[in-house]
Amino acid sequence: MKLLLVEDDETLVNELRPILQRAGYAVEHADNGIDGAFLGNEEDFDLIILDLGLPKKPGLEVLQEWRKRQRNMPVLILTARDAWHERVDGLKAGADDYLGKPFHNAELLARLEAIARRGAGKADNSLHWNGVTLDIDQQCAQQAPHSPIQLTAIEFRLLRYLMLNPLHFHSKTRLSEHVYEEDQIKDSNVIEVYINRLRQYFGKDFIETRRGQGYRLRTP
Ligand code: CA
Repeated sequence: MKLLLVEDDETLVNELRPILQRAGYAVEHADNGIDGAFLGNEEDFDLIILDLGLPKKPGLEVLQEWRKRQRNMPVLILTARDAWHERVDGLKAGADDYLGKPFHNAELLARLEAIARRGAGKADNSLHWNGVTLDIDQQCAQQAPHSPIQLTAIEFRLLRYLMLNPLHFHSKTRLSEHVYEEDQIKDSNVIEVYINRLRQYFGKDFIETRRGQGYRLRTP
């Protein structure tokens, strides 16, 4: 899952980044409203955390701009603790959820998972496809009657992305954008290695390949 964090508070960014990464997100960061707006317009993110108090362009205007351009990715806004009007304005402008500062990191993660699931039409904290269950909290996958498999960070991101977007074929380039971070080497050929690993875990037919289009989970 590719996540954009638009936040100018450097201390908060340094605290959040590793927490989000451990939770399985590939994090990109913008420290002002203009760069944030640009990234949200140009790249496909699965989730965005948007601070409202930003230099160069207020978060509310950034959100309004995205929604006007039909950029419909889930957005969680960060607001000042007591500024109830900010929350109302933010929700009216098309935010999916909000969190008042300061917040507990566990609550942030829970809310992100919830809006990501809502976006994909799911209701609990695991994903299911073709006999395989992915536990989001534990980052492990199980194909009954076998025991659960603890996934590596990249395996987890890849499987979660495929399970949340099961209907379309995804190219190696697209998949690598969603599992790697901006400053990591994006060798899309490595995706093939991870796809094969998932096939070793869950069977050759779990993922199908279509020449020129990429990969998707096989429809049960
Ligand atoms: Ca701020």
